[in-house]
Amino acid sequence: ALVVRQRMRTTSKWARAEAILRELEDKCSTPIGKLRQVADAMTVEMHAGLASEGGSKLKMLISYVDNLPTGNEKGLFYALDLGGTNFRVLRVQLGGKEGRVVKQEAEEVSIPPHLMVGSSHELFDFIAAELAKFVASEGENYHLSFGRQRELGFTFSFPVRQTSIASGTLIKWTKGFSIEDTVGEDVVGELTKAMERQGLDMRVTALVNDTIGTLAGGRYYDSDVVIAVILGTGTNAAYVERAQSIPKWHGLLPKSGEMVINMEWGNFRSSHLPLTEYDQALDVESLNPGEQIFEKLISGMYLGDIVRRVLWKMAEEAAFFGDTVPPKLEVPFILRTPVMSAMHHDTSTDLRVVGTKLKEIFGISNTSLRTRKAVVEVCDIIARRGARLAAAGMVGILKKQGRDAPASAGEKQRTVIAMDGGLYEHYTIFSKCLESTLSEMLGEEVSKTIVVTHANDGSGIGASLLAASHSQYLEVEES
Ligand code: BGC
Ligand code: MG
Repeated sequence: ALVVRQRMRTTSKWARAEAILRELEDKCSTPIGKLRQVADAMTVEMHAGLASEGGSKLKMLISYVDNLPTGNEKGLFYALDLGGTNFRVLRVQLGGKEGRVVKQEAEEVSIPPHLMVGSSHELFDFIAAELAKFVASEGENYHLSFGRQRELGFTFSFPVRQTSIASGTLIKWTKGFSIEDTVGEDVVGELTKAMERQGLDMRVTALVNDTIGTLAGGRYYDSDVVIAVILGTGTNAAYVERAQSIPKWHGLLPKSGEMVINMEWGNFRSSHLPLTEYDQALDVESLNPGEQIFEKLISGMYLGDIVRRVLWKMAEEAAFFGDTVPPKLEVPFILRTPVMSAMHHDTSTDLRVVGTKLKEIFGISNTSLRTRKAVVEVCDIIARRGARLAAAGMVGILKKQGRDAPASAGEKQRTVIAMDGGLYEHYTIFSKCLESTLSEMLGEEVSKTIVVTHANDGSGIGASLLAASHSQYLEVEES
């Protein structure tokens, strides 16, 4: 009788788990029709955000970058990249026309978590101190023209309302940062004061979002780059817009006729997005409820946590990991996306990696192959939904640019999209799925004209290039 009861329990365990999985699959499904609706909604919101300040969830921020790098940039420049869990400092010697990047060095420092939720002063002091150390190591191989002040491109990967190419106020934090006293402040002012406190004589000549830096860095090597997308801890896109198509821009029309727009697409939302109870719970419990909904479906900070929430539900409602719920399943963000990716890419026949990770992260041991397979399936559903939605967003931008259709006869069209971010770079199933979804949506003919490239740390180089083209010495030298 005991055996029979146990067998019945196991059957209902699998039946209940299966029901949870099928419901997840259904709620997360992104058939091509739905993706088209998402792409269309993205295009509509882009128009609305360009029309007026606050006209859309998409802020469509004006970057003040109306000229992208040409290759003539020259001199020694620094860049500082603050955005995710690390920040990077970079030093480049730009050689002008012939030399391009003559020499470059970078250093990466991880940000102590308490500084991400502490005070503005402390965060910027820490950054400036690391920057000062890096500058001190410059050595003899770099060449700063006589009497010049060192100049810096500051990549600050959060929504900023720019007031010029080298100033702007923080609209809000994202991605696990939450420091109230920085919101509304000029982040260049904050950094400059901190550099002064360090006794570091340096001037910020360009303040850019990482998407803008990536677009600029990409353009330096390929003049057909017109879109940049970041898929990392957070997600966002920037693109080249015609200045006349920005009704909310009341400044002079730039000579180039173009303006780069930082979309802040992470904050996109639409009734067409396939949201589940897991997404809702994640959002409510996040540092920024109601905000960055698109980002919470797509980006590296969140994917792992969505998976954890599904597994937790399977544990609670289907006793999926045994009679008791493993307590670690309840710990927010304990399952990081790189670990999810490792499980998802497990190619061993017995899914050994999945077994090891479940043990390591959640303390769940002796999982059956069937259990491990179900875990991989959850990863697959969540990763594919994110990748396909990101692709739909990209199609929305291509539509806005009129590059989603075949060029008219005789015209040669080539569109390059510069991509960066750890999720894109390391989560292969994700990036492959994104690229195949793009082709699926665009069709064969248009797909041939679209090139998706990895702009490896384009953002750092891009920021230094923009620092160079906005140098305080430029006019002096040209005259
Ligand atoms: C920020 C963007 C940034 C993106 C990628 C988002 O959370 O709001 O400004 O570009 O992350 O780093
Ligand atoms: Mg980055």
